[in-house]
Amino acid sequence: MSKKRVLGFLLARPLIAVVIAVLVVGVLVMVQTHKQTTPVTERTQHIGLSDAQQVQLGNQQYEKTLRQDRAAIISSGPQYAEVQRVAKRIEAVAGRDKPAFRWRVTLLRKNEANAYCLPGGKIVVYTGILPVTRNDAALATVLGHEVAHATAEHAAERIEREHLTKVAAAIIAGGVAFTPRQYVRVFALLGAADSLPFSRAQESEADHIGLVYMARAGYDPREAVAFWKRMRRASKGQEPPEFASDHPSDEHRIERIQQWLPEAERAYKPARAD
Ligand SMILES: [Zn+2]
Repeated sequence: MSKKRVLGFLLARPLIAVVIAVLVVGVLVMVQTHKQTTPVTERTQHIGLSDAQQVQLGNQQYEKTLRQDRAAIISSGPQYAEVQRVAKRIEAVAGRDKPAFRWRVTLLRKNEANAYCLPGGKIVVYTGILPVTRNDAALATVLGHEVAHATAEHAAERIEREHLTKVAAAIIAGGVAFTPRQYVRVFALLGAADSLPFSRAQESEADHIGLVYMARAGYDPREAVAFWKRMRRASKGQEPPEFASDHPSDEHRIERIQQWLPEAERAYKPARAD
């Protein structure tokens, strides 16, 4: 759905409903959210959930995942040791931005090349990513990106947007004889106009923050470029994993990472071998 079509649809509603929606959403943003800035990129954002609520939300999902995949949990061996070693250093860096988060990483035996971090700091890594990362620095690229989604509170931001979109949709649909079907349509229009560019912006922001995090953790940020090139080859013709999703193209991603490299290199202090 293009922005133009959404705008056309909204302007066809009685204008007053749109104006009221804008005012109400504006008031809700002021009353129900707190203003803060993202780490590294210093973008202003409005978040409704507290750090403690995000930890709670992430823990619930984490426990559910661990119950479901109990048989796949890996708790010893060289792959386990590598994931713990790299995560520990990335968590220490991210913890400076989010002291209230509770960090923990779990390695699951799954062929998929994927990893994710839940709100509040719980990380899950699949063994399928390790043949692509190949070394600690590239694993730090992945973990830096995932952990950045948590410290930049991307999930909370999306929840907030969805909530406000629902409020706006209800008011606009209500401005013309309200029916549930109308509401669903308005909600879908408002949501579609916003969600894809927004999630791309979050992915890009996670790349940027993650790059600086890996450098702060003592990993050479130039390894991120090599990793993304390997990732591009590995994911040819496959469904992109979480951290490769919603990107216009890998080429573009690598280009942008190269632009952030000087900033990351300033933050880079090689760590002692461990
Ligand atoms: Zn991501």
